[in-house]
Amino acid sequence: MFKTFTRLKLATRISGYFSLALLIGLITDQILLSSLIICIILLIWHYRQIFRLSHWLWEDRKFTPPTGRGSWEIVFNGIYRLQGKQRKRSNQLAKLLARFREGAEALPDAAIVLDSDFAILWCNKLACLILGLRWPQDSHQRIDNLIRQPEFVRYLRRKNFDEPLELPSHLAEARTIEFRVMPYGDNQYLMVARDMTRLRQLEKMRKEFVANVSHELKTPLTVLQGYVELLEGMDNDGLPIPVKPMQQQTERMRDMVEQLLTLSKIEVGEGIDLNSKVDIHGLFKTLQEEAEALAKGEHKLEFNIDSSIQIAGEYSLIYSACSNLISNAIRYSEATKIVINWQRTSLGAEFSVHDNGKGIDARHIPRLTERFYRIDKGRSSANGGTGLGLAIVKHALSHHHTKLSIYSEVGKGSRFSFTIPPTLIK
Ligand code: ADP
Repeated sequence: MFKTFTRLKLATRISGYFSLALLIGLITDQILLSSLIICIILLIWHYRQIFRLSHWLWEDRKFTPPTGRGSWEIVFNGIYRLQGKQRKRSNQLAKLLARFREGAEALPDAAIVLDSDFAILWCNKLACLILGLRWPQDSHQRIDNLIRQPEFVRYLRRKNFDEPLELPSHLAEARTIEFRVMPYGDNQYLMVARDMTRLRQLEKMRKEFVANVSHELKTPLTVLQGYVELLEGMDNDGLPIPVKPMQQQTERMRDMVEQLLTLSKIEVGEGIDLNSKVDIHGLFKTLQEEAEALAKGEHKLEFNIDSSIQIAGEYSLIYSACSNLISNAIRYSEATKIVINWQRTSLGAEFSVHDNGKGIDARHIPRLTERFYRIDKGRSSANGGTGLGLAIVKHALSHHHTKLSIYSEVGKGSRFSFTIPPTLIK
């Protein structure tokens, strides 16, 4: 246990020195001189201790302080104690850092810590493997000097990291890398890069499989439909042939195959040209004619179309999205008013369909755009629904940098809308 210096100890020690000076002064009859000599001796002694302390602090490499005496012993021991504490704390920090690095090495992704200028502060082994970084040689190098793809550089400069960035690897074109950047602390960034090649290959295989199966089903279905039609009016030894349900089912299957094919094409996204101008006037004319034919006069349809709002995009996709939303409003609401708007808003050009139907329970809304998701399967099938309509809408809209918004209240109706961003408004 270290001793501490108290006021009492200090007072005792000073009065001891002065008593000694007084005693020698009384014996020699030189009180002033003896006091002066004692003071000089004390001063020299203290200076010597200061010199030893400074030597130990600045020049000596030993951990242990010089052995002090008197009041200096307490000072030396105090500094030693502080140093001990500091050493313990830095050991703990070093251990923590080592543990953090071990954890980061165990990550299944490449992890890179960047400073405010995107210079590399640290990276794990997978970052070296996936992104070709060299550690520690690339320490403090800017990551955009090492990965020079223009899209990657733009992504960093924009500093909007809400969405991840997916790019072909700069090391091997065939590989796909997804980058995610998370800002943290004092203007630092954690970049996580993941090899998505396998996942994307599987996704491509799935899309191709669905597209191929749908395509292959089309021909036998058409043949089957032809034979079913031939059956109509044929004699079956006086027994009725159930042609009607057969026709209905083959028709349903044909619709499903058609929709699956459309969805596959939209998902693959090949041949989509966002630069061509959509014929808004023609589009809404067709939509209105089709809606009126489907409604058969049972619904009141109101079209509020501002044809001066022109957009760039893929006509067939915009048509699919609008047509599905309008036909849903007609099919899922009975004898009500349906309002279709195409109007300018502060966020862009908004398309909306509003019906006064029976509405949708909130728990279904997040799942409506899933493939084959139907609230009431029986009713949807009877309406000719396949559960693919809103999935088609979702994918068609994603190519136009927009999303489907659904607002619905049970018993009051629903509002389906999307907003084409200003970048696509002509
Ligand atoms: P479907 O081909 O079955 O119509 P969708 O993907 O178009 O499939 O729609 C999914 C489900 O969402 C439908 O089965 C229906 O229950 C519900 N739905 C879609 N639009 C509306 C609407 N306007 N009002 C009420 N329910 C709707």
